[in-house]
Amino acid sequence: METSLHLYNTLSGSKEKFEPINPPFVGLYVCGPTVYSNVHLGNCRTFISFDLINRYLRFLGYKVRYVRNITDAGHLESDADEGEDKISKKARLESLEPMQIVQTYSVDFRNKMALFNTLPPDIEPTATGHIIEQIEIIKTIINKGMAYEANGSVYFDVMKYAASNNYGELSGRKIDELISGTRDLDAQDEKRNPLDFALWKKASTAHIMRWNSPWGEGFPGWHLECSVMSTKYLGETFDIHGGGMDLKFPHHECEIAQNKAASGKDAVKYWLHGNMLTFEGKKMSKSVGNSILPDELVSGDHALLKKGFHPMVVRFFMMQAHYRSTLDFSNEALEASEKGFLRLMAAIKQLESLPTSALSEVDVAGFERMFYEAMNDDFNSPILISHLFEAVKTINSIADGRLKISEGDKSKLQALIQSFVFDIMGLTSIHESGNEGLVNGLMDVILDIRMRSRLNKDWNTSDAIRDHLNELNIVVKDGKDGATWEVQ
Ligand code: AMP
Ligand code: ZN
Repeated sequence: METSLHLYNTLSGSKEKFEPINPPFVGLYVCGPTVYSNVHLGNCRTFISFDLINRYLRFLGYKVRYVRNITDAGHLESDADEGEDKISKKARLESLEPMQIVQTYSVDFRNKMALFNTLPPDIEPTATGHIIEQIEIIKTIINKGMAYEANGSVYFDVMKYAASNNYGELSGRKIDELISGTRDLDAQDEKRNPLDFALWKKASTAHIMRWNSPWGEGFPGWHLECSVMSTKYLGETFDIHGGGMDLKFPHHECEIAQNKAASGKDAVKYWLHGNMLTFEGKKMSKSVGNSILPDELVSGDHALLKKGFHPMVVRFFMMQAHYRSTLDFSNEALEASEKGFLRLMAAIKQLESLPTSALSEVDVAGFERMFYEAMNDDFNSPILISHLFEAVKTINSIADGRLKISEGDKSKLQALIQSFVFDIMGLTSIHESGNEGLVNGLMDVILDIRMRSRLNKDWNTSDAIRDHLNELNIVVKDGKDGATWEVQ
């Protein structure tokens, strides 16, 4: 199958033509969440970005196998093999079984992915479901001389690996700088070098999540699960590995090292990284305290939010940025996206009932070419959206009688919009997925009329509006920035 899709490969630092290893099949692996807390909007951005990529590949006709893991063991508080396991810690603090924590937040994650209309992965493997496979690959890496056992733990020997491989090839880090950036080993340290990372960690007596292994009771290192599960389900070499930018180092760099040490091969052909959602320029994260949960965003119930937004408005907002660019979250930006989204949806609705004529003055083939060009250029959704707004202008001109469209061209334009807006960008019209957008719009109109009547001192009208709304359990509050409303 021949397409002209080009994608940016972090490994080469350039855009490359997409040539799958075994077309029409495409193996896609994306690092999933560590399920110890509710996913925030930042996490969601990464998975929505890869949903666009997954959808476009499928749209082009590739037979995609999409694997996205669930990290339910092995992710320590610090990426440098230190601190408690995030899930164990949460279980200890809440006096719950670790698998209760895993279940709670896996369910939350899947619900939130559905809220944003992302397609589920074809396989969703867990770290705890692949302990045996992880032990096997550790044995292989030890046999190849690239890992060593120390006091019940097993570490990857980075210096040994770096003697014949480029450790840092993905993240662009230099091994000398990495070494000078780490602290000296102290006498307690089991590692030969501070850069070495854990493949297997011995479990302390207090550690609840533990498995038997040839090195005693312990648990696998975080980086290992992704090497194991990606190659188990997609083969020793596969097409695309994705994840957030923040995973490039150490997580993905370590994955490359593990894969090469185990099989002597690069497992991944194209490495893709999505950029961060920020708030006032800072990465949105739970630890910084600037994270917003999807539920808070929808309800508007958060100190950083002026009002609630429909999940499709948020998805559209995310599509308005290229997946490799940072995206700064703000009320103003979301309000602008809401307007844009509603304008696009209104035009799509209007397209259905446009009058047609024998003559056609619309260059549908031109739109088609531009839409494909945008997506073939490393999934450039913001450019696609700008072309879609050109189509909106055209639709408005036809509605005003300034342009003509034939029946055939109208059907073609409708099919094109169906493909690019709904199938590829994964948007749904707000009416189908709930009436919040419509209700918000109507309430804006009603409160505007009420404000005008108050300005005209027409108290009868303004009181009547308030009383009628009260009968519907809608309470209006007047504030210095205007009126707000809520359902009681
Ligand atoms: P974690 O659960 O911490 O392993 O993170 C799950 C995914 O969310 C990873 O792919 C991260 O790269 C991604 N992620 C975390 N914070 C953000 C953010 N602010 N913007 C975009 N992606 C993020
Ligand atoms: Zn991973």
